[in-house]
Amino acid sequence: MNKNKSKALLSGLKEFKVDFLENENMSEYSSIKIGGLTDLIIFPKNETELIYVVNLLKNNSCGYYIIGKGTNTLFKDARICVPVISFKKFNGTLLENKKNESEIILEVGAGMSLSRVLNYAMKNAVSGCEFFYGIPGTIGGAVRMNAGSKESVMGNIINAVEIITEEGIKHVINKKDLKFSYRNMEVYGIKDNYFITKVYLSLYNAEELKIKENIKVFRKRKSSQPLGEYSLGCIFKNPSDISAGKVIEEIGFKGFSKGGAFVSEKHANFIVNKGGAKPGDIMFLIKNIQEKALSCKGIELNTEIRII
Ligand SMILES: Cc1cc2nc3c(=O)[nH]c(=O)nc-3n(C[C@H](O)[C@H](O)[C@H](O)COP(=O)(O)OP(=O)(O)OC[C@H]3O[C@@H](n4cnc5c(N)ncnc54)[C@H](O)[C@@H]3O)c2cc1C
Repeated sequence: MNKNKSKALLSGLKEFKVDFLENENMSEYSSIKIGGLTDLIIFPKNETELIYVVNLLKNNSCGYYIIGKGTNTLFKDARICVPVISFKKFNGTLLENKKNESEIILEVGAGMSLSRVLNYAMKNAVSGCEFFYGIPGTIGGAVRMNAGSKESVMGNIINAVEIITEEGIKHVINKKDLKFSYRNMEVYGIKDNYFITKVYLSLYNAEELKIKENIKVFRKRKSSQPLGEYSLGCIFKNPSDISAGKVIEEIGFKGFSKGGAFVSEKHANFIVNKGGAKPGDIMFLIKNIQEKALSCKGIELNTEIRII
């Protein structure tokens, strides 16, 4: 970052008492524990702080990256010179509003983890979000990624979202103005660099026993994934008629390694960091898998993870 811009930004952050850190190692902010240094990472705690930060960035013509829990984001080695805006400390509140006898709207701050929302739902007989089981990110990241599985995705349960645009303007966007696709969400008429600050989930009441039964399906699915290891979840999107994991197995990459990075023996669409893996190791595996899938099977594997 240019020195003058950086000075102006830092004094603005100090003045408004917004948390930030300089020269942080991004491996701390990604679930695969890999990454290089960043000049500046900023931790707004609420909407007021976020709008202040966005205006500071705008006034100093700085670009930025947004991250939630970094469970789908790979940071490369190269130093990140634009500010990273982290949702790690952002408003994790949850409110329940009854819409009618059976329908419930959960109003959730974007920094809250999916597991906390699911715990709340299980304790309060709220159903519809059982597919959150075993997905480790924030609710904001999950909406942006339209996270889920073949049973359900975020787009199915969204009622509305609140966003702050890169101009620092707040909007409440109803479902009809959101476009959900495979691991992506777009807001009609708004550029991609928006911040999701609140999510309204459309859920319903159900018997506790029924919810526990539903969870079993997802627990079973997750037992085939290397959940205790450092990873980013699925690396590649599934092609239309076959799973990416199956393709990777068939081209002989299951268990293949480069440095400390291994194509998981448990689920070939996961790359795990068994210790000391570098971003370049992950990129090497990705590139080689893509090339072989194309040359041997004519299948183009596109990454699901975000690479910064
Ligand atoms: C072990 C494991 C299992 C997983 N299983 C699944 C699964 O079953 N299904 C699935 O879909 N995914 C899965 N994932 C991937 C990941 O957990 C999800 O995509 C998750 O929703 C990402 O949330 P995050 O907060 O970590 O996002 P990040 O990785 O931090 O960010 C992802 C993207 O969202 C953007 N973003 C994050 N927060 C915001 C915000 N508040 N406003 C605007 N943009 C934002 C970022 O800029 C980035 O582009 C798994 C990951 C792991 C490690």
